[in-house]
Amino acid sequence: MIERAVVIGAGFGGLAAAIRLRAMGYQVTVVDAQDQPGGRARAFRKDGYVFDAGPTVITAPYLLDELFTLVGRDRQDAFELVPVDPFYRVRFPGGGHFDYVGEEERLLAQIERIDPRDVDGYRRFAAHAQKIFDVGYTQLASSPFDHLSEMLRVVPSMIQLESYRSVYGLAAKYFHSEELRQVFSFQPLLVGGNPFTTTSIYALIHWLERKWGVWFAKGGTTAIVAALVGLLDELGVPVRTRSKVTRVLTKDGRACGIELEDGSRLDAELVVSDGDPAMIHRLVDAPGREANKSARMSSSMSLFVSYFGTKRRYDDVKHHTIVLGPRYRGLLEDIFKNKVLAKDFSLYLHRPTATDPSLAPAGHDAWYVLSPVPNLQSQVDWAEQAGPYQEAIFQALEETMLPGLKGELTTRSSIDPRHFLADYHTKNGAAFGPEPVLTQSAWFRNHNRSSDVPGLFFVGAGAHPGAGVPGVLCSAKVMERVVPRPKQALPLPKPRAALPRAA
Ligand SMILES: Cc1cc2nc3c(=O)[nH]c(=O)nc-3n(C[C@H](O)[C@H](O)[C@H](O)COP(=O)(O)OP(=O)(O)OC[C@H]3O[C@@H](n4cnc5c(N)ncnc54)[C@H](O)[C@@H]3O)c2cc1C
Repeated sequence: MIERAVVIGAGFGGLAAAIRLRAMGYQVTVVDAQDQPGGRARAFRKDGYVFDAGPTVITAPYLLDELFTLVGRDRQDAFELVPVDPFYRVRFPGGGHFDYVGEEERLLAQIERIDPRDVDGYRRFAAHAQKIFDVGYTQLASSPFDHLSEMLRVVPSMIQLESYRSVYGLAAKYFHSEELRQVFSFQPLLVGGNPFTTTSIYALIHWLERKWGVWFAKGGTTAIVAALVGLLDELGVPVRTRSKVTRVLTKDGRACGIELEDGSRLDAELVVSDGDPAMIHRLVDAPGREANKSARMSSSMSLFVSYFGTKRRYDDVKHHTIVLGPRYRGLLEDIFKNKVLAKDFSLYLHRPTATDPSLAPAGHDAWYVLSPVPNLQSQVDWAEQAGPYQEAIFQALEETMLPGLKGELTTRSSIDPRHFLADYHTKNGAAFGPEPVLTQSAWFRNHNRSSDVPGLFFVGAGAHPGAGVPGVLCSAKVMERVVPRPKQALPLPKPRAALPRAA
């Protein structure tokens, strides 16, 4: 008998899991509640603009390549990745900027201008980040952590690498300049963490970016999603959208399929969830201890994101800009601890048309601007606040980087924490799943193999190793290591002449 696997969720984690399960020989079906695949990486298309809703910074591209080679295909036939330089421009509130790039010489020249003492500090910081990468990424990110013994094995290295420090704490150890401390510590925000409380393991992001670069897909991140869905189609794996799972079915305590909102059922030998584990556990007939653990975990921050178009191009604005606000620690405390909506903000501004002008009508720019905000545990009334908050952000951009912005706007829309709850079914409307603190990482995070419900597995941002496109692609690799091999493998179809190139 051919064994069946059903994957709940067509985010990057779910799509990668489906490809890996199909390569193993399972007969796979993917279901997703939304009207299009991609999860947080879905796209909004409006008035000739293509807006990627979520991830825009593609790192560790080999993880995408692997999914194609695994089934005898070539990623380059499916979509094109182009390098982005600088990786980010970081703008300081007092004026001036830092181009965060991959080449050490260019980094050092800028560091020297800010504080010559920090040139040596950077070298030592980078060496430390590399050592963390060698353990935290190379050894941990693709290993299952479902036994305490696996955690105990790595504790000595983690102590040696000072994982008890925060990312900011590590940057403060090596840099005198507060500006440089911020440049080399904001990275946890990319995976939902507060740089002041996120374990310094996440300093590995710096080394990961230096090692493999920062990339953008021609046609936007949505082109990657389309290519993965196209690959699944070629492999005979249906991706069923508008299919909300309301129950994870069990028989004698073992997962045996799912029930959809319309009452229909899909039987399967394996159920793999790409949804937020805290929410998916609620759908299991008899949730166990893991459900309680998930429910207790603290959530990451949420986001306010505005997507907009301008009828002119702002060619002096780079593809990725981090706009640091006047407060760093204080603002982060407001977001993560006090859970209040501050009047000031730090922003990430995305201008994909800097790299791919086809994402907007000729002569226009497509944009999104993202502001980290508290999750729904705050008392913010977004129905009332969303409009004024968007205005305040546009005003700030008009006064600094985008002169005349309001007169140039052609289209605008926004999402806020309510959408993360309603559209992506995340606990507390968090944008990145459980907070990436040490006590919620590796063994402490949601395991990739349920210990309460045999046959139930987890990938995606809420599971080990965690959020971010590389994180969720790695979660599918870990899943592959812990699911049983099918007794009889469904053979792979022969490759088509060439995959249709996405976008
Ligand atoms: C605005 C934004 C910007 C980001 N930028 C970057 C970036 O530049 N680089 C980067 O690496 N990362 C970035 N991230 C993080 C990254 O996008 C996510 O960590 C990653 O895409 C999450 O993928 P996933 O597979 O875990 O889950 P998701 O993308 O959330 O997919 C899960 C899917 O499961 C579905 N689902 C859940 N419950 C059910 C149910 N009951 N029934 C059916 N379907 C269900 C949901 O509808 C959803 O489609 C960003 C995130 C956001 C929000």
